[in-house]
Amino acid sequence: MTRDPAWLTDDLEGLKRSHLLRPRRLVKSLGPGRSLIDGRELVDFSTNDYLGLARDPRLILASADIPTGAGASPLVTGRSEQYSQLEQDIADFEGTESALLFPSGFAANLGSVAALVGTGDTVFSDRLNHASLIDGCRLSGARLRIYHQDSLDSLDQQLKSAATSPRRLIVTDGLFSMDGTVAPLNQLCDLADAHDAMLLVDEAHATGVLGNTGRGTCEFLNVEAKVTLRVGTLSKAVGAAGGFVAGSAAIVDFLWHHARTQVFSTAIPPATCAAASAGLRLIAENNQLQQHLQQLATRLRQHIARLGLDTPSVDGPIVPIILGDPAVAVSTSARLVECGMFVPAIRPPSVPDDTARLRISLSAAHTEADVDQLADSLAKTVSPELTARG
Ligand SMILES: *Cc1c(COP(=O)(O)O)cnc(C)c1O
Repeated sequence: MTRDPAWLTDDLEGLKRSHLLRPRRLVKSLGPGRSLIDGRELVDFSTNDYLGLARDPRLILASADIPTGAGASPLVTGRSEQYSQLEQDIADFEGTESALLFPSGFAANLGSVAALVGTGDTVFSDRLNHASLIDGCRLSGARLRIYHQDSLDSLDQQLKSAATSPRRLIVTDGLFSMDGTVAPLNQLCDLADAHDAMLLVDEAHATGVLGNTGRGTCEFLNVEAKVTLRVGTLSKAVGAAGGFVAGSAAIVDFLWHHARTQVFSTAIPPATCAAASAGLRLIAENNQLQQHLQQLATRLRQHIARLGLDTPSVDGPIVPIILGDPAVAVSTSARLVECGMFVPAIRPPSVPDDTARLRISLSAAHTEADVDQLADSLAKTVSPELTARG
């Protein structure tokens, strides 16, 4: 038996009162774009499996009969054949001199930011950045400056006031995960250049999704050559697991020695590496999945415009519908489940207060009919809610 401290149960009671309690759902895949969630068969608009590769037989086959454990950190035991091949495949895919693997995208951000800056330095972070970048900034011990992407003049000022910092680093998501918008990378590159700052772009949601060859937002906006470091994940569009950084040979060598989340954590298992290499190969060989995804996104945006729903203008497969109140977001999501659609409610602290939302995540595994059916369901569930508010 264990005894829970009173503050702990108080905390959970508080979450419940604020409609912020999260269920630990049981989910089972039922094939392309469909899941059995808590016993119900639903069209699943919740995953980051943007190209439908997470259950692709070609990735499963590529990882068959390959060891499932790595044994230790890559610095201690060395890199497996599949691990080293995957690092080479990533560098080839990204068109960079080199690449370095991390146990996850979260670990890649945490470890890279904390290695690149420290006490006395200054790090500049978009206010909508992913938690892993925010935590990396905090862990680094560098002075933290938060900026708003729609007022970059103030970032310019902040950079000016940090002129005496030995190192300056700007960190940003490429494609913002809760808004679906693309970072103003052209302006950020100019500012980084003007103030001799490093720029790290997190491509977690954009790899395999944006850019002509699927390299992400830096390719999409044609700024790859100006960015210090790109971070990515193999757990979203690539359909496997693990994180990576892609950049110059020197920065990769530096992080190999200094990024603690990679130095002190067990390497990605060889079987997972082989699956990730297969996923990257599929993305590089043809862009049909990427194109289908883009068509679905365009189709959904047309529906949303017709319905007059509140969504930021977006370029990719993430389409949020801002509802404001967490309770409204939760009840709307529940009504969509009644229609056979799973669209998760996203609430604080994942998004700022008063911006609770539905977050639609499209996948190439969906069909046009899925998207049309979703639009019908949104018309039945969300619009009355907004009318009630307005
Ligand atoms: C998902 C995500 C990560 C973390 O990647 P994992 O491989 O899932 O740990 C990092 N950054 C952003 C923006 C993400 O959305």
